[in-house]
Amino acid sequence: MPIATVNPANGETVKTYQAMGEEEVERRLQLAEATFRTYRTTTFDERARLLRHAADLLDEDQDDIARVITTEMGKPVKQARAEAAKCAKAMRWYADHAADLLADEEPAEADVRDSGASRAVVRYRPLGPVLAVMPWNFPLWQVIRFAAPALMAGNVGLLKHASNVPQTALYLEDLFHRAGFTEGTFQTLLIGSGEVDEILRDERVKAATLTGSEPAGRAVAATAGEMIKKTVLELGGSDPFVVMPSADVERAAEVAVTARCQNAGQSCIAAKRFIVHTDVYDAFAERFTAGMEALVLGDPMDEDTEIGPLSSERGRADLEELVDDAVRGGASVLCGGRRPDRPGWYYPPTVLAGIDREMRIHREEAFGPVATLYRAGDLDEAVLIANDTSFGLSSNVWTRDGAEVDRFVRDLEAGSVYVNGMTASHPAFPFGGVKRSGYGRELSGHGIREFCNITTVWHG
Ligand code: NDP
Repeated sequence: MPIATVNPANGETVKTYQAMGEEEVERRLQLAEATFRTYRTTTFDERARLLRHAADLLDEDQDDIARVITTEMGKPVKQARAEAAKCAKAMRWYADHAADLLADEEPAEADVRDSGASRAVVRYRPLGPVLAVMPWNFPLWQVIRFAAPALMAGNVGLLKHASNVPQTALYLEDLFHRAGFTEGTFQTLLIGSGEVDEILRDERVKAATLTGSEPAGRAVAATAGEMIKKTVLELGGSDPFVVMPSADVERAAEVAVTARCQNAGQSCIAAKRFIVHTDVYDAFAERFTAGMEALVLGDPMDEDTEIGPLSSERGRADLEELVDDAVRGGASVLCGGRRPDRPGWYYPPTVLAGIDREMRIHREEAFGPVATLYRAGDLDEAVLIANDTSFGLSSNVWTRDGAEVDRFVRDLEAGSVYVNGMTASHPAFPFGGVKRSGYGRELSGHGIREFCNITTVWHG
């Protein structure tokens, strides 16, 4: 895949980049290692000051970087600005909280005595250069949610961003440098995915985090496993959105549209499978379909646009294949289902009903604005359908019945359960999945501790 900005709204190549050569990559690895030696000794206050400065600069740059993001991957510019604002918030959150999250822990006095120690503490020390392999769908946010905690913990970052967002990747490096972080603290490697393996094998790289597809995650985890290096994987999802009879169906249908179509549906935590109790199925299906049809599809630079193009021609073709396969298998199309006749990689909001287990769309992630509807006879069947997937990222349930909430929280196989709302990440809450959605957690205290050397200090 060439490293290039190709505008998804019209298919035009805006700018092509030469991948960094071996020498440049080597220079950057050396710099990362050398920088870590001193950066690891900086105080939380110093790191927080720089990170807050980066957040301020990002706020100032918001309009400009939003347009770059929209040009590179096609999300509506309003959503790109919201993404930038969210990043600044997460940076400030980690600047405010990192010292507390990584404060020394004191084991219970009785346990300290039992171990024969006069004193003992657990200290969170940084690991070193961490490689981040990141995707294009939230090209700022995916990186910041790694970088903010990593830099606050005293690690240094090496970013291998997706090949279709090189300008955003270079912007991020520049942002951290302008904020005052020294050059080696955060570096972008403009390289193809074929170069990742060798970098991961390099002794100077201590750990890796990847957000993206299952094949990419498997490749990185396999090499990291061979090298005995820690990884965090945030892979795909096919999140259930369950609606029970006691729910506010109107509100659920309204939120369902956003949950499915934000970022043109290209989100790992988008709700993808809508599992509706038979008593409210027709009412929900009607409102949901109407909401999907009403979304404004158009030029992502327009302020009124709600659905822009998909990020790539390949992405749209993959989505079309999933829809065609379902239709061939007997699914009915309640809306959408056919690409509009216009340049760019657009695909309309689509609702499919009559899904069965044999269809690819039941098993695979639909990375675009395509929703599948399922009818469930009762709560048990809803849970069964919800868990009938290899993914386990997040889940959404709509009910006003407390006992039902308890059952969903107990039984849904996912990294989070959102009750009467849609999944959205927040710096204070752990984010990540189970099953093939990956492992490890980002954000919150759990996220910042993933790339720490948790050190026992024992005094005799
Ligand atoms: P990829 O997983 O291919 O890309 C994500 C990142 O991984 C990119 O930086 C990519 O680099 C890199 N990468 C790809 N293959 C390897 C590899 N073998 N070793 C190391 N790094 C690798 O995602 P795609 O863009 O191809 O999207 C395909 C599907 O992945 C989507 O349809 C969706 O299902 C899922 N996906 C999930 C995301 C999420 O948020 N969880 C985000 C994006 C995609 P390069 O760009 O150079 O290939």
